[in-house]
Amino acid sequence: MSNCFILLAAGKGKRFKSNSPKQFINYLNKPLFMHSVNKAIESKLFKAIIIVSNVPLKNIKNKSIKVIRGGRERHNSSQKALKFIKKMNFKNVFIHDAARPNFSIKLLKRLNSNLKKNRAVVPFLKTENSTKYKINNKIQNLDRNNLLLTQTPQCFDFKTLYNLSKLNKKNVTDEASIFLNNNQKIKFIKGEENNFKITIQSDLKKINPQSYYGIGFDIHRLIKNKKLYLGGSKIPFHSGLQGHSDGDVILHAVIDGLLGAMRKKDIGTLFPSNKMKFKNIRSPNMLTPILRILDKNGYNINNLDINLICENPKVSKYRNKIITSLSNLLNINKDQINLKGKTVEKLGLIGKEKAIACEAIVSLNYYA
Ligand code: ZN
Repeated sequence: MSNCFILLAAGKGKRFKSNSPKQFINYLNKPLFMHSVNKAIESKLFKAIIIVSNVPLKNIKNKSIKVIRGGRERHNSSQKALKFIKKMNFKNVFIHDAARPNFSIKLLKRLNSNLKKNRAVVPFLKTENSTKYKINNKIQNLDRNNLLLTQTPQCFDFKTLYNLSKLNKKNVTDEASIFLNNNQKIKFIKGEENNFKITIQSDLKKINPQSYYGIGFDIHRLIKNKKLYLGGSKIPFHSGLQGHSDGDVILHAVIDGLLGAMRKKDIGTLFPSNKMKFKNIRSPNMLTPILRILDKNGYNINNLDINLICENPKVSKYRNKIITSLSNLLNINKDQINLKGKTVEKLGLIGKEKAIACEAIVSLNYYA
């Protein structure tokens, strides 16, 4: 495999009417361009991902991702990216517009398998609209059966595209146009209805998510000489939580809530307590594979609500610290998380400060 994925995110999006360029707005709970980046990563088809952007991008930690500046028009950006990767010797290159966040990983794989026998593969849709064409103020009928609406991602043999693109002087809106202008053959494959381009504000509402909910509950005994971790953050206290792991009741309840909403069993099935390799595991490390399952299956966290049940420590004192930690670990905004403290009138083990319990409810959005 020697594929590179180029994501064009340098457009100004004049028709979108927003303060920030549309490719960076929050769309279905993450920056719009990240939908494409995540799918490219998840597909495992690419050695490198190049994001072409005129806005500096923070929080990109993946080593296979490079961010470069774009050009004046789309085709200038594409040309710059192709030049940038020239020395990397990729066999194939995929080019995609960040304004199309809803393509499927299946489409990437179909493109890739068609590229084995072709030097250019482009997805397209037919139109149901009757179509007309205007030349010199004269409007003519077009047979819609002969009309192809092309989408991205489009993929190409790198060398062929590089050489054609270098010579191209026309202001083209996709790479397929360059191939056609040079009488080069393209394999057209069926595109996807959901893979529409986000051009105007109302396009953002075209996809309605399904909601799923999950609950989680956990309790651990408090013991001396152990550090207390709640929601991934260290809390000063006279005792810590006993357990196979660090005993972080908040993260354990949240993990079970997430698994519940995805209908994927429970934390004990994923991390059996009789397995030595999970002994003393820090709970944030237990969260990482859960978040991968979430991403891979097209779920996003909508919100979570947590009850921490204990006499002490006082939730009001550490609320902000715990919520900040959770928002960093879960990669969501702080205002998507609520944390409530609940005491038990000094009753039982919890009332005597010998245990801490937690319950969490999670709501997920699922985009098919
Ligand atoms: Zn636990």
